[in-house]
Amino acid sequence: MQQLTDPFGRSIDYVRLSVTDRCDLRCFYCMPKGFNDFEAPEHWLSFDEIERVIGAFARLGTRRIRITGGEPLVRKGLPELAARLHGLAGIDDLSLSTNAVQLARHAKSLKTAGVQRLNISLDTTDPQRFREITGGKLEKVIDGLMAAKAAGFSPIKINMVIMKGVNDDDVEAMVDFCIEHGFTLRFIETMPMGDTGREANAYFLDLQTVRKRLERRFELVPSVMPGGGPARYMRVAGTELRLGFITPMSQHFCETCNRVRLSVDGTLYLCLGQEHRAELRPLLRDGIDDHMLDNAIRQAITLKPERHEFNDKPDQIVRFMSMTGG
Ligand code: SAM
Ligand code: SF4
Repeated sequence: MQQLTDPFGRSIDYVRLSVTDRCDLRCFYCMPKGFNDFEAPEHWLSFDEIERVIGAFARLGTRRIRITGGEPLVRKGLPELAARLHGLAGIDDLSLSTNAVQLARHAKSLKTAGVQRLNISLDTTDPQRFREITGGKLEKVIDGLMAAKAAGFSPIKINMVIMKGVNDDDVEAMVDFCIEHGFTLRFIETMPMGDTGREANAYFLDLQTVRKRLERRFELVPSVMPGGGPARYMRVAGTELRLGFITPMSQHFCETCNRVRLSVDGTLYLCLGQEHRAELRPLLRDGIDDHMLDNAIRQAITLKPERHEFNDKPDQIVRFMSMTGG
């Protein structure tokens, strides 16, 4: 089996696949209100094109795919794409990141298609605050979460972006909610992606603070989680709840980075916080054969930078998180 290794000796075996840059919410830290400047449909990779690229990654040793966006469930026929990716030889871990707004409708078909794990974004359990942060209705997300549970997804990980003075006082309520429903809760630091991310950075909170605060109420014991990626996990003693801390800003984890990101227009981004990229769409549409496609991907991996520079150069990344696929 071939393996992709970058110039810093990191093995690259994980692709985050953005199937759309559109979204049915407008989380203020991600996408500007009223934003409409989306990728033109003729630039979207078709399902056939996506399957070819992911097939190439699979030949090159990729085992894990996470479907993301924008909001992946706004792309028509997503369960069909999921089934096609699940069927590719070598892909043994298919997961999805979603805001869950449309999950109630799709949970069962996604499970049938072979999606194994779900990450769901939820920053608060307060309906009014949810509306302020995202512009949407909390009720739909809760319905989506319950449908995912009923469809048998396990674990279900909830991702909560923590923002000082916005939702940091929701942490305890989120912990109680996740204990009640058996979800895993992961806290994420804000990243300065685009103007929206930089705006949110004004509310940045080091997750050490959150952890210390939780330790006043709970006993936290070190833990692990399958497919946990860069999160550091703690279990709340006396419960099944695992808490994950994802700290790209206060304690970056670039030295263990194993991933690249494919955006809806076929751009392969080598790092969330850098501009290094390779354009695959023109190659696909020029009729590149599989051998040359594998070579193009190998070549792209040589461009992977050592680390992000969100702290040193916070103004560097102009694209929003929704464009790259978070
Ligand atoms: N729409 C899906 C969702 O919300 O889960 C998938 C895409 S979304 C861009 C992926 C993740 O990126 C979400 O957990 C979201 O909270 C996070 N995110 C977006 N902008 C961010 C920012 N500026 N800093 C940190 N996380 C961000
Ligand atoms: Fe949409 Fe996800 Fe961005 Fe929120 S974080 S605006 S749900 S893409």
